[in-house]
Amino acid sequence: MKPFSGNFTQQEALDDAVIAAATRILGSGRLHRYNSEPGEMSAASELEQAYATYQGARYCLACASGGYALSIALRAAGLEPGETVLTNGFTLAPVPGAVAAAGGKPLLVEITGNLVIDLEDLARKAGTSGARFLLLSNMRGHLADMERLADIVRQHDLILIEDCAHTMGAAWNGRKSGNFGLAGCFSTQTYKHLNSGEGGLLTSDDPDFMARAIILSGSYMLYERHGAAPPADVFERIRLETPNMSGRMDNLRAAILLPQLSRLEDNIERWNERYRAVEQALAGVDGVALPCRPAEERYVGSSIQFRLPGISPALAGAFVAANKALGVELKWFGASDPVGFTSNHHSWRYVDPQALPETDRVLSGLFDMRLPLTFSVADCRHIGAIIAHCAAELGADA
Ligand SMILES: *Cc1c(COP(=O)(O)O)cnc(C)c1O
Repeated sequence: MKPFSGNFTQQEALDDAVIAAATRILGSGRLHRYNSEPGEMSAASELEQAYATYQGARYCLACASGGYALSIALRAAGLEPGETVLTNGFTLAPVPGAVAAAGGKPLLVEITGNLVIDLEDLARKAGTSGARFLLLSNMRGHLADMERLADIVRQHDLILIEDCAHTMGAAWNGRKSGNFGLAGCFSTQTYKHLNSGEGGLLTSDDPDFMARAIILSGSYMLYERHGAAPPADVFERIRLETPNMSGRMDNLRAAILLPQLSRLEDNIERWNERYRAVEQALAGVDGVALPCRPAEERYVGSSIQFRLPGISPALAGAFVAANKALGVELKWFGASDPVGFTSNHHSWRYVDPQALPETDRVLSGLFDMRLPLTFSVADCRHIGAIIAHCAAELGADA
């Protein structure tokens, strides 16, 4: 088997339009979002308008990171200290971290073999806990049945905030991920769908919520200079009782995101071609289970996951090593000690320990890989063939 030599953390270089936008801001010296001239729209405000339009939301706030967007969304939604927040038992650590930052207590909900929140466990826990909040994480870009989820949200009078770090541009039955509840939270960190190094976007149709979020983000009473904000009178009601928790986005990052946003739809197609190339190589390989992608789901295949159900920890380690020897970098979510990421609830010791047997069973055989756009479709076929080869070797050894 010929080894693969690509780099799994190398994103595409940013093009000339992006570099020109950055140069313009640097040349102006006005990097702070409120450092604009009279009548000038700051790059941060332009980005807010452009993203609100893309998302189909009334309001948008650009801020410091995706995790920051999640935590101020919880606060702006009225989370009280010590209050319970329902959230996925499998997600990235900034999600339980955002609940902790906002002073809440995560109540973890099981996931299914398709890596989405288990709607039965959600309904059960919503009923028994009386929680008011659901912080739904569309982890690794997988969408639950959003219509059934919205029914549960209605039945239990939950306030829904969506973590769309991996579902920027995704949709369920034509409705964009992030538009199913009170707010959508997005990340523009390097490994997501737009790249400004770090950054976050928060969207909502609710004026009071968005006014609180803007003040929380550190608007220094300059909220009238925002690009996609509610009218000034909405702020009057809350401006002096909402704390400033500085986490603004600057004009430099906003300026480099704007030209990228216009290419997002093309890039989604490019990610999905790559996703399908790996998926095809793994389909039908003995012992490999791929998450199903329902017809209602428009996904963004910026990473791919698959399971080897029932694999032992020793064999999982050997499988990762065999792939690595052939140049393919896999993450395994079942490891007892987190290396390079923390997505297993057992390593979130600031959260009350919770029994999630189904999630544990899924994670014990779950593998994951990024698909940066620097890989060609042929690269992705090659990677898929390597993984299939290593899975077949496992079968032969077992
Ligand atoms: C990356 C990520 C976040 C947080 O984004 P940051 O911008 O890094 O704070 C939240 N949720 C998930 C599932 C993520 O992958």
